[in-house]
Amino acid sequence: MNIILLGPPGAGKGTQARLLVEKCGLVQLSTGDMLRAAKTSGTEFGNRVAEVMARGELVTDDIVIGLIAEELDREAGRHGLIFDGFPRTLAQADALEALMASKGKFLNAVIELRVDDDVLIDRISGRYTCADCGEGYHDNGKRPATAGVCDKCGSTEFIRRADDNADAVRVRLMAYYRQTAPLIGYYHAKGKLRSVDGLEAIETIQREIKTLLGL
Ligand code: AMP
Repeated sequence: MNIILLGPPGAGKGTQARLLVEKCGLVQLSTGDMLRAAKTSGTEFGNRVAEVMARGELVTDDIVIGLIAEELDREAGRHGLIFDGFPRTLAQADALEALMASKGKFLNAVIELRVDDDVLIDRISGRYTCADCGEGYHDNGKRPATAGVCDKCGSTEFIRRADDNADAVRVRLMAYYRQTAPLIGYYHAKGKLRSVDGLEAIETIQREIKTLLGL
């Protein structure tokens, strides 16, 4: 079972991917997480990537395709990959198909999380995560049961993403509509697209995804 989670920033791709990892033992491959890791490495590559991400633009296809190729090599024996935030362009989608084929793997489904723009801005501007375990929280939604303490791991460190500010979010949404949204038609034409209502509760969406995937 190898799937892509597709949707604009703030649609809930990362949240749903994490649940599928926890509950179903799938492996999450998030290019955003990989790039954030590179960003903190302090290398010249990391600094270049950080600038592009801070503006809300997409990094080049070559970079993310290279990162995914490395991960696919590492996860060669694993089944059940969730691509979260990749592919984001048609060139990335073509590259993914070729990479998967070269590993004897197959893409089972593309799950599109559908959401309205005004909800996205609110979701993104209030979100933060535990710095240790990555559990997600929101100023106007799920908050830690004890203020300032992560429910999952007890950490008291939380982080907000640098690109979750109004200017960068506008650029990220534009990048989504210009460069990523065409993938909806691409995967529909391939008979792989399944859509779920991303405005539902987190658990409801998770149930629907599992039903769609027969998990
Ligand atoms: P995400 O965590 O998926 O929202 O990604 C955060 C940022 O990383 C994006 O705004 C882009 O700058 C960059 N990024 C992540 N994945 C990709 C990708 N597949 N192609 C290009 N840029 C990406």
